[in-house]
Amino acid sequence: MKKRVCIIYTGGTIGMVPSEQGYVPRKDYLASQMARMPEFSSPDMPEYDLVEFDPLLDSSNMSVREWNQIGAAIRERYFDYDGFVVLHGTDTMAYTASAISFMLEGLEKPVVLTGSQIPFCELRSDARDNLTTAVMIAAQGQVPEVCLYFSGRLLRGNRATKLSADELIAFDSPNYPALAKAGVRITLSPQNIRPRGTELRVHLFQPVQIAVLKVFPGIRFEVFENLVTSGVKGIVLEAFGAGNIPSEGNGLLELLDKAKQNGTIVVVCTQCLRGSAHIGAYEASAELKKGGAVCGYDMTVEAAVAKLYYLFSQEYEEAQIKAAMEKDLRGELSVPELI
Ligand code: ASP
Repeated sequence: MKKRVCIIYTGGTIGMVPSEQGYVPRKDYLASQMARMPEFSSPDMPEYDLVEFDPLLDSSNMSVREWNQIGAAIRERYFDYDGFVVLHGTDTMAYTASAISFMLEGLEKPVVLTGSQIPFCELRSDARDNLTTAVMIAAQGQVPEVCLYFSGRLLRGNRATKLSADELIAFDSPNYPALAKAGVRITLSPQNIRPRGTELRVHLFQPVQIAVLKVFPGIRFEVFENLVTSGVKGIVLEAFGAGNIPSEGNGLLELLDKAKQNGTIVVVCTQCLRGSAHIGAYEASAELKKGGAVCGYDMTVEAAVAKLYYLFSQEYEEAQIKAAMEKDLRGELSVPELI
């Protein structure tokens, strides 16, 4: 029997057309282009259905609401297909991939996000390969996790980050190897792939308030003190190197104190593309540790943001959330073994 793939189309460059204001997604356009693609009538291709979001979005406009729509669309159709492809704009694809990875617990089938840097309607578009290969990987069913396929590589979704605004190799997974490579053949790396889940549980998100604060030389934390209100549930602090932060009389302690009083969780990630935060390794991060911040280790900022949304949506106690932020839930982080 032919494999079946459900393609959930949310928007993004892949199906955009030029307009007076720049590229915009157009209803039904992608479906009409796909219907004309000879690739989809090949006997090697699975059957597919296309579910188109209304409205189609530039991914800058993605929010918790759309993440929930994607999760709900997969839940509704879960037993009807061998795998799912989510077509998405590249700008926030790594955030959505991370969010969906937390939302879908116990996944038994592939969910592959993809898109393109050049729209389908343009001559040199990368949409054809990205779409065809993503559909084939989804149909194969051998990667039962939320992943991101782009320009020849299949990456774990919550490890991926957008690196380039204009190169066709737009994504990388700096702290975790690729799950598969698509060259002449599609070659899986089974040792990198998560074990198959046993039963899907979909945890929809709440629109809680999260903030991201990037540390820079000369930062005065008191300027950001108003950020820490009881409404802000979590802050991802992008620190230097191994989680270091300037701490001399700049309001850091007061900010951490206020966070503690308000139950705001501060998660420390590194600004470096590769490697891990490890608060407490240097004196320059000792204050963070004392102040009750938690370590995001080698998580991408995208994954840390999505994980905070996820954990706060589960209505866990503060201590449970802090502990879970430092644990590997969906392959999003590795805790370094220190000797
Ligand atoms: N602005 C577009 C989006 O993220 C960019 C893209 O898809 O490549 O929707």
